[in-house]
Amino acid sequence: MPQLNLYGLSVEELSEVLRPLDARSFTARQIAAQLYGRGVRDFARMTDLPVSIRQSLAERFSILLPEPARILESGDGTVRYVLSLPAGGSVEAVMIPDRGRVTLCLSSQAGCALGCTFCMTATLGLERNLSPGDIAGQAALLMERHHLEVNTFNIVLMGMGEPLHNYDSVVAALRLLTDTPAGFGLSPRRVTISTAGLAPQIEALGREPVVPRLAVSLNATTDESRSRLMPINRRYPIARLMEACRAFLSRRGSRLTLEYVMLSGVNDAPSDLQRLARLALSLPARVNLIPFNTTPELAFQPSPAEIVHDFREGLVERGVMASIRRSRGRDIRAACGQLAFGMSGEGDATRRAGSVHPEGGVFS
Ligand code: SF4
Repeated sequence: MPQLNLYGLSVEELSEVLRPLDARSFTARQIAAQLYGRGVRDFARMTDLPVSIRQSLAERFSILLPEPARILESGDGTVRYVLSLPAGGSVEAVMIPDRGRVTLCLSSQAGCALGCTFCMTATLGLERNLSPGDIAGQAALLMERHHLEVNTFNIVLMGMGEPLHNYDSVVAALRLLTDTPAGFGLSPRRVTISTAGLAPQIEALGREPVVPRLAVSLNATTDESRSRLMPINRRYPIARLMEACRAFLSRRGSRLTLEYVMLSGVNDAPSDLQRLARLALSLPARVNLIPFNTTPELAFQPSPAEIVHDFREGLVERGVMASIRRSRGRDIRAACGQLAFGMSGEGDATRRAGSVHPEGGVFS
């Protein structure tokens, strides 16, 4: 019988599975601190536990994290990982160094069900939700490989999948990442969740004990245009989405960014600029403009650089904080929306992984 994988279990869940071992009441908390706070992957090294407990743990349980199946390094320092998950399937994660800052872009689902027309992951459909251990394990792996200390990097859930479509696992992973000492001890302000706009879940996230930063992929300023790009808009149109964003922002200390991928002739007209500024000011939110990375499989073209620049200037003139995202990892197809393992015959180990949308990405 396969051993139960303890990686990703909360203190309460660990207490439950440890019950037959007759362990002391604080043993679960000690194990969580070792697994998440100190990165220990071997029961024998949990030296604050009695030897008999360590032996029983090793006999009954395992500690399994995502493992690299393929690694690609960009000339700009970006490293793209295709990861095999302990329970099967693959996802991608990206380490992005940028001007002394490091961002880890993680996945929340294998594939995605939301069907945004500008996104490569959408073409794969949803394979499955990731567990809390799959999500937190991506962070642990990248921290280990790149020798990153806690709170020296940011995490963005902008890889494969819609994080709020896997709400319970994402919130559980958020707790693992931010708890201390029974978690990684990351500041919640260093974690950003990106969503295509699941309004009820945005509101629920604002009521959680731990609230991360939120990025909302807006990408259009009218319902007609947004519904064409993002089918989720038919269910939660822009007005409903803005209502949810306002509810999220009513939580003290919360921060929200509107992500806007710039598609030539689709959403880059002067009237879009005016509407985008109005929407951003009404929250308020800052805006991150994302130059589209062309992929042969998708018909969209990027807005010309002057238009992207003029959009930013126009937003700033209207009193909106706005930035343009720098593209990273293009040479390894790790830039926003460029990855397409499994679609371009890049190898069996990676056949089912999809696109990753690195930091500041429009994709959720
Ligand atoms: S943009 Fe995000 S929500 Fe939309 S299909 Fe891609 S991964 Fe899913």
